[in-house]
Amino acid sequence: MIVAEQKPIDEIKKMVAPYQKLLILGCGTCVKTCFAGGEDEVAVLASALRLSFKKDGKKIEIEEKTIERQCENEFIQEAASCVARNQAVLSLGCGAGVQDIARQFAKVPVLPGLNTTFIGVQERPGLFTEECVGCGNCELALYGGICPITRCSKKLLNGPCGGSQNGICEVDPSVECAWQLIIDRLKTLGQLDNIRAYIPPKDWRSSNSGGPRKLVREDHII
Ligand code: SF4
Ligand code: SF4
Repeated sequence: MIVAEQKPIDEIKKMVAPYQKLLILGCGTCVKTCFAGGEDEVAVLASALRLSFKKDGKKIEIEEKTIERQCENEFIQEAASCVARNQAVLSLGCGAGVQDIARQFAKVPVLPGLNTTFIGVQERPGLFTEECVGCGNCELALYGGICPITRCSKKLLNGPCGGSQNGICEVDPSVECAWQLIIDRLKTLGQLDNIRAYIPPKDWRSSNSGGPRKLVREDHII
């Protein structure tokens, strides 16, 4: 999932201050799962803003709406009438959602209510960890399903740096050494030979370093 967190309320207040009619638009998929932008977070943020602006003596009408996904036009259109009634949209979607909403409603300012952080998982309740940086050429088969690009602090592709202590990364003692995890996993799978082969430097053109990327599925184009 895409993991995000809500921006500080003061930053949000500053962004929405020029408007008297505001739609807070939630997204019911990834950002709901990480407690940043689902229906509940929309309601809590709307109440907080109403109270805060009331205290400041500023009048603002805030409408609340959550759609299933902000990155698919089919769902975005469900918000069309709400968008039309308001002067601005505060999106609680990820960065892709904010941009897709802006693309569909070109004349309405769309403001980001979240900071989009990474592609990750919920490792345990309340703990979200980064698992993939979207490099565009997945090599997880070599590494027992553990990504050294994302999870090794030095992004090493050919084995550990040698600095880990008791399975903990020398760069960040709050994380496990990715290479310790890779080696343990490859041992379990009987695939330790994977790391004896030299992995050449990665071609980063398939990553975002090569510029904005596209995925074209001819079989789905109408
Ligand atoms: S190798 Fe690339 S695509 Fe695969 S998990 Fe790592 S960053 Fe993501
Ligand atoms: S200790 Fe492990 S995770 Fe940390 S930089 Fe070295 S190899 Fe990578």
